[in-house]
Amino acid sequence: MPADTPDIFTSLFQSIGLSKSKAAEAAKNAKSATILRNLILSHDLASESDPLGEKRAVLIAALAVQLAKAPNVDDAQQGYIVKAICERSSIAARFFESHSLPVNEAEFNETCGVASELVISGVKNIPSLRWANPLEIKNAVERVFTQTLGAKEAGKPKAKESKKDTGVSTTSGKSDNTAAQVSDAVQGAKSRKVVFEEGFLGALHKPGENPQIKPDLRDKHLAVTGGRVYTRFPPEPNGYLHIGHCKAIFVNFGYAAHHGGRTYLRFDDTNPEKEEARYFTSIIEVVRWLGYEPWKITYSSDYFDQLYELAIELIKRDKAYVCHCSQEQMKADRGEKVAAPRACIHRDRPIEESLAEFQKMKDGFYRPKEAFLRMKQDLTDPNPKMWDLTAYRVLDASHHRTRDKWKIYPTYDYTHCLVDSFENISHSLCTTEFVTSRQSYEWLCDALEVYKPRQSEFGRLNVTGTINSKRKILQLVNQGYVTGWDDPRLHTVIALRRRGVPPEAILSFVSTLGVSTAETNIQIGRFDQAVRQFLEGTAPRLLMVLSPLKVTIENLPEDYVLMVEKPLHPKVPELGTSIIPFTRTIYIDADDFRLEDSKDYFRLTPGKTVGLFQAPYPITCTSYKTDPTTGEVTELVCRLEEKGTYKTENIYPMGRRTCTVW
Ligand code: ATP
Ligand code: MG
Repeated sequence: MPADTPDIFTSLFQSIGLSKSKAAEAAKNAKSATILRNLILSHDLASESDPLGEKRAVLIAALAVQLAKAPNVDDAQQGYIVKAICERSSIAARFFESHSLPVNEAEFNETCGVASELVISGVKNIPSLRWANPLEIKNAVERVFTQTLGAKEAGKPKAKESKKDTGVSTTSGKSDNTAAQVSDAVQGAKSRKVVFEEGFLGALHKPGENPQIKPDLRDKHLAVTGGRVYTRFPPEPNGYLHIGHCKAIFVNFGYAAHHGGRTYLRFDDTNPEKEEARYFTSIIEVVRWLGYEPWKITYSSDYFDQLYELAIELIKRDKAYVCHCSQEQMKADRGEKVAAPRACIHRDRPIEESLAEFQKMKDGFYRPKEAFLRMKQDLTDPNPKMWDLTAYRVLDASHHRTRDKWKIYPTYDYTHCLVDSFENISHSLCTTEFVTSRQSYEWLCDALEVYKPRQSEFGRLNVTGTINSKRKILQLVNQGYVTGWDDPRLHTVIALRRRGVPPEAILSFVSTLGVSTAETNIQIGRFDQAVRQFLEGTAPRLLMVLSPLKVTIENLPEDYVLMVEKPLHPKVPELGTSIIPFTRTIYIDADDFRLEDSKDYFRLTPGKTVGLFQAPYPITCTSYKTDPTTGEVTELVCRLEEKGTYKTENIYPMGRRTCTVW
């Protein structure tokens, strides 16, 4: 018998990453608890600073349960399995789901892809593939393996089949199921970790590695950030966020959090004509609802003064000029109808003149579209984003924060990179439509010799079968096709929330799609499926009777009360229980009763005995009352059967629909 008390076991088990309740459960059985203790101690698995993580810990606990039933597994085998769980938990989990102990190592290696790993390292050593992307090699090799040997998961259904065939009870499979359940729950967390460490995000530079025009800019940047990752989520406050934005939120907040960094929520409020206060409030709420807390909430308009000063500096450096061309003229010059862009007549005006004109723009001398400040970029560059983009325009609009202070407003192209620079952003993560903008982003930072963040672009999330554009959703709202931004048919975040979609389900969906430079096009059905899957493992089951039919149990006294405790989830005991009073009067759903019985009807009829879902005893319908005018059944009179007289599952086979106790 172990000398340790269950309490000591519990804290030891928690030290490998088991939750308190799982640790307590594992400590209950003395035999498997002792084995688990020995596994932990002999393999040095306990660590406060670096626990195994819940998924691996659950597998180790499940292994201890299995070992208790298979005493002939030697130490070497045990060590082998523990190592496999620690190093390759998900594939090991798959293997142990379908194989009992002791383990056949060759079979295990094949299932777990050791063979494919060897091939991958072999292929990587082929000289002509020396510079090939390792991820692509891995994917290509795995594709060949899958085509030749079938999918890795192929073992799973087989395991289920064999259980069914042999009629093995589910009790022994219970701990496996629980392990699988828990591993499903942590799957989201795991895929999040992988997203941030592999592929596109894994390949991003380290803070400070982004090149600067002058070395001291890097030093100053690192002095401010302490070498931390700084990101920002920069929505334009011109609408409510939709599911696509969740990817950008996840990427920006998640990446920084994963590296112990900081994320700004920055409102890109440079277009006062389209912005509304309600959008700001909702965006903050949505970010918080998704579980992220911005390090700081800022506004591009916080920097209007600094941006203006830098515009003057840009003109002084002969890198910007005031232009009075019409928009048609500008378009024509920018090459729509000519082979190459043309310099406009204002491009080479004296610096002093541009300074004076810019002052006039600021003072309200010009009406909208009569004057622009344009950057003097490179008209010989093939990238249109280098063809003298507009930096400032005149707008006759009151700004929600700066009111009427400004007559001129900076553009996205001018503002975004500079505010990223002011905020010392280490990774400016945006979607791929901004790839061509990166050159002008970098040009402007260098032209002004300010810290230059590195912009990196990932693929947008397009959910097909719904609308993912604020502008288009606004049209639907304005034209009355939907009742508002939270109409449940939309995929705005507030609509999803209204439908009961939990934030974790959205994040889990986004994280499992991964992040790369490719656009992700996903059918809306896959999103719904991901939400259902998430709810399946996490939502407490509550019962209600939609169309109640009164049942009086005649052989129970008036004051009879039996408190029935029922689990809130059939497979996740952690979700707890609820207590329902079982009394002389209960209600079943009207659909669960009819007058005529038949072979394939398993619910209640006159004279028939059925079990009640999660209630202790079955009932027999002895008579019923009807409404004298409509003939509708209004009440059933039933008899409660004696304990043990009936086995409810004989009457109501598992998996059939049962009557529901109210
Ligand atoms: P919309 O077209 O709906 O107006 P937007 O790109 O104009 O979207 P912004 O408010 O400018 O919306 O976006 C804030 C951030 O969210 C940007 O960095 C943008 O790249 C990102 N984002 C917007 N839509 C998506 C999407 N579908 N997938 C991933 N990121 C997105
Ligand atoms: Mg936009």
